[in-house]
Amino acid sequence: MLRKNRLFTPGPTPLLPAAQTAMASFSAHHRTADFRALFLRVLADIREFIGSRNDVLVLACSGTGMMEASVANLTSPGDKVLVLAAGNFGERWVGITKAFKCDVEILTAPAGETFSLSETRSRLSPDVRAVYVQATESSTGTRHDIEGIAKLVRANGNDTLLVVDAITGLGTTHLDVDGWGVDMIIGGSQKALMIPPGLAYSAISERAWQRMEKTTSPRFYFDLRKERKAAAKGEAAYTPATSLIAALGASLDFVRAMGNGSVAKGREILVDNAELCAAMTRAAVRALGLRLLSSSPAAAITTIYSPEGMDSGIIIKEFRESFDAVVANGQGDMKGKIFRIAHIGYYDYLDTIGILGALEHVLARCTGGDVEYGAAVRAAQQVYAHTACNKRQLVDA
Ligand SMILES: *Cc1c(COP(=O)(O)O)cnc(C)c1O
Repeated sequence: MLRKNRLFTPGPTPLLPAAQTAMASFSAHHRTADFRALFLRVLADIREFIGSRNDVLVLACSGTGMMEASVANLTSPGDKVLVLAAGNFGERWVGITKAFKCDVEILTAPAGETFSLSETRSRLSPDVRAVYVQATESSTGTRHDIEGIAKLVRANGNDTLLVVDAITGLGTTHLDVDGWGVDMIIGGSQKALMIPPGLAYSAISERAWQRMEKTTSPRFYFDLRKERKAAAKGEAAYTPATSLIAALGASLDFVRAMGNGSVAKGREILVDNAELCAAMTRAAVRALGLRLLSSSPAAAITTIYSPEGMDSGIIIKEFRESFDAVVANGQGDMKGKIFRIAHIGYYDYLDTIGILGALEHVLARCTGGDVEYGAAVRAAQQVYAHTACNKRQLVDA
């Protein structure tokens, strides 16, 4: 049978056709009035997408670049920082803060679990200069309680900054960035914004901008103060990734159209869409007798244990070979134990039903056992039927 290549990975995610067209046809030079107008519009829209009144930046780098920038700009060597790490991306914060010679305190949680707020509180003291955490830990599909963590950090005082890697959180989970007092929130282009990898974006609080004037860690390309000055004029300090900025403009136009003229409203619909895809997937997986990894599941991605005794790589290979569907393996310790199906960005009902129907065939082939055809699909349809009454659906694109 004919197979179409489809990504179900937590980045890169499926591309928005309108964004691909915008990229392909874009050729303006970056020091022109046309580009400045585009970039200023994209910056205003991305701020609304994040849901913050703070100044925003869009840089040419992957998400990790902005994570590094948050450490290089907000800390000095020897600064005490608290990293909340419950998976591979949490470990990335540990790696970066150590590389910049911070005094790193680490609070961990087992794979698939989130942090105890009372333990988090006990690790905070007035000398903690920054707290680093993920909104959603993509390696385990776990959502962390950013609202609860932010309350603790704000109660710890204004000298403690909260930095949130929301690279898979933005566009898949509701976040009140300013209301909760998040100082730096970070996103990446290859996730909910439905465009290729290569851009990272962030909203940064006044408290954080002030911190940057005093910190002494080395920085050059990632000196965010230079970028802030340039962005105010619709420019970037160095050559921006112009065609990706054009794609981002098209993607944000799509989000605005979904929200009937409001980017913020469109983002909420995108979040609800991911929530529904994830709820359908969780119900389907349970109906097949498979186990979910996360006790606090993110809408970004569903993480599923492989059947007892089977390497999850076999399932992933079968998805690829039979259906050309790309599903993600576990990372680090979880490699071979789980597989991950993403719901970030450009997924609809048919994508979701399709991958769950395929999952039934994949399981039947890999286990050689009985799979009740239709069980996963039926469970997903029941979830959809119960929630479809509010008819909040993505616009056509
Ligand atoms: C994708 C992702 C990143 C960024 O990774 P890059 O490869 O640098 O874009 C960071 N954190 C999380 C939670 C992610 O899912």
